[in-house]
Amino acid sequence: MRLMAFSFSISHVVGKKLATADVLSRAPLRDRGQPEQEEEVNLYVNMIMSTLSATEKRLQEIREHQDRDEILSQVKRYCTEGWPDRSTIEEELSVENGLLLKGCRLVIPKLLQRDILQKLHAGHQGIAKCRERAKQSVWWPGLCTQLQKVVEGCDTCAKERINPKEPLLPTEFPDRPWAKVGADSFQWNENQYLLVVDYFSRFIEVAKLTSTTSLAVVEHCKSIFARHGIPSEVMTDNGPQFSSECFNQFATQWGFTHTTSSPRYTQSNGEAERAVRTVKGLLQKEKDPYLALMAYRATPLANGYSPAQLSMGRQLRTTVPVTLSSLDPGWTDITKFKEEERKKRLRLSWNFNKRHRAQHLTRLTPGDHVCVKDTKKKGTVIKQAEAPRSYVIDTPRGNLRRNRNHLVSTPVSPAAQTILPEPEQSTGQPVRSDHAEQGPVQPCSPEPLARYPARERRPPGYLKDFVAK
Ligand SMILES: [Zn+2]
Repeated sequence: MRLMAFSFSISHVVGKKLATADVLSRAPLRDRGQPEQEEEVNLYVNMIMSTLSATEKRLQEIREHQDRDEILSQVKRYCTEGWPDRSTIEEELSVENGLLLKGCRLVIPKLLQRDILQKLHAGHQGIAKCRERAKQSVWWPGLCTQLQKVVEGCDTCAKERINPKEPLLPTEFPDRPWAKVGADSFQWNENQYLLVVDYFSRFIEVAKLTSTTSLAVVEHCKSIFARHGIPSEVMTDNGPQFSSECFNQFATQWGFTHTTSSPRYTQSNGEAERAVRTVKGLLQKEKDPYLALMAYRATPLANGYSPAQLSMGRQLRTTVPVTLSSLDPGWTDITKFKEEERKKRLRLSWNFNKRHRAQHLTRLTPGDHVCVKDTKKKGTVIKQAEAPRSYVIDTPRGNLRRNRNHLVSTPVSPAAQTILPEPEQSTGQPVRSDHAEQGPVQPCSPEPLARYPARERRPPGYLKDFVAK
């Protein structure tokens, strides 16, 4: 904007012909040992040493291991005697009291790394906290990745890990009344009840059970289906009355599909669970249970239609006076109604996913090792169950079925063993300074070399990379 006031042309002027040079780039510091600067550095390092949360004994141990480690001992020598290559980024490394530091962090030799990793994870904090801890104390190349693996592979953490909520599967809205129903049993005032709710109309049927056997449940279901017709699909939880052979036979003989939800994951039998809550609320307030049920069935839902209207195509005559003509049968615009219900369901699941920041959990495959959250037991995935996101797990106590949300993946073996090589004694051979141009060097510890390939024309090239990292 300043130049817009001028009319100008651009030409290149060689650096040496420039009258005013950039001082900092033209006059690099040749003499490293400027007194004030050194003093400052020492003050800084002393401050760091006093804040390092390690006992003198521990520091001595690290010091000795650093000296035994061929790479670290070489780096230490460079730090004190000067680096062979001036362009090496050595500023962050320093030796104080015989200890090699990177910034304010102790450089940990290989032999001690595994132990330090466990110490960093003491208290079983998450990855971010562990990294923060490391940032204030220790460093070595690859620390971050190794730390992440330790945290991810920790069994104790796996048991406590909370899976994020998975995106809600929008429930299919059935095409017609009594096509899909949910059934559940519940207790009220020391009595057992069976509840059946229609997914289309939310029409609720309740029957008092004189016995909680599967046979009694089947009898009442038959009575309800005789009234409304046999649904195509019946959703239940895994209660003993529903998972019995007796109920299965009933399903086969009467010709409907019986779907059960994963144990402890009642969300998938949500419609029946909600209906149970509604009915309990009604029973609590109204003395006459039949009047209460009738009031519910005759009252318009949020969609503007009552369960009776949607289920039977007519209004019920109740204690509330109405014109007789309003009791005449008459269907609402069913296509429009279905369309709106489907849109509503999509909106609900969208809102749910947004509110809970839902994300898909990884799919499990047979053989995967998992931790079952509620039993806190480890197991192996056998197969995927019929319902989506549901798996059959082999555990020491027998096979279990659980929703994906109740399963936390765990690694096959303790993580620390899989990521760190077994500690090996240093060979004690001196670092050769000419190996960079000759490719990989055998006597040196293989890991840093493999990870940080040597560069040309910089004799201790891998050291530079080691340092730069
Ligand atoms: Zn842990």
